[in-house]
Amino acid sequence: MNIAIDGPAGAGKSTIAKLVAKKLGYIYVDTGAMYRSIALYMIENGISQDDDTNIASACNKISIRIAYEDDTQHVYLNNEDVSVKIRMEKVGNMASVFAAKKAVRDKLLSLQRDIAAQNDCIMDGRDIGTHVLPNAELKIYLTASVDTRAMRRYKELVEKGQDANLEQIKEDIKQRDYQDMNREIAPLKQAEDAVLLDSSNMTIDEVVAAICEKVIG
Ligand code: C5P
Repeated sequence: MNIAIDGPAGAGKSTIAKLVAKKLGYIYVDTGAMYRSIALYMIENGISQDDDTNIASACNKISIRIAYEDDTQHVYLNNEDVSVKIRMEKVGNMASVFAAKKAVRDKLLSLQRDIAAQNDCIMDGRDIGTHVLPNAELKIYLTASVDTRAMRRYKELVEKGQDANLEQIKEDIKQRDYQDMNREIAPLKQAEDAVLLDSSNMTIDEVVAAICEKVIG
């Protein structure tokens, strides 16, 4: 059984998917973390977003591995656990830039399909229902207004004691939406057979319940 959850940055996909996975006994696969890991490699190795030749050869040198420790997904980039480092804002924004590259998407597609073939899983990302798992048994498109998503991110950073500027966060979200929805390969869009959930005025529990109800009735 595979559940695909797609939607824009900050819609709450990972929070919701983790809870649904726990309730149903599935594994949660965060594909954004894989794109973030590749972006981290490019940043750490000084590979520019315009350098398609070096991006392609870097993809051959990168190994991404997903492991589950205490029910939590850890991402290993060339055997280093980068699960914490990839959460930096800069890495998320650059992930969206490198995610438009064919070499990067080709590299991650088979990894994602293999995991889904071997496990009951709930996988979140941008192109899961449309491209990675077109035959997923359930597809959800989870969205929320830009203002709601920016405010959630702002509160999250403030709670962590980090600097946060609401206007800047809003601009970054708009830019990321634009890049993810307008790229040539596997852009973010709602699959024709996906269920649309707008979480702007829903609690986390309500969204989780709505999804679980579709699986177990
Ligand atoms: O979900 P998250 O914010 O961690 O994703 C980071 C970036 O990775 C996204 O903005 C998107 O550009 C890219 N991504 C993607 N396809 C996916 C998952 C993430 O292009 N399936």
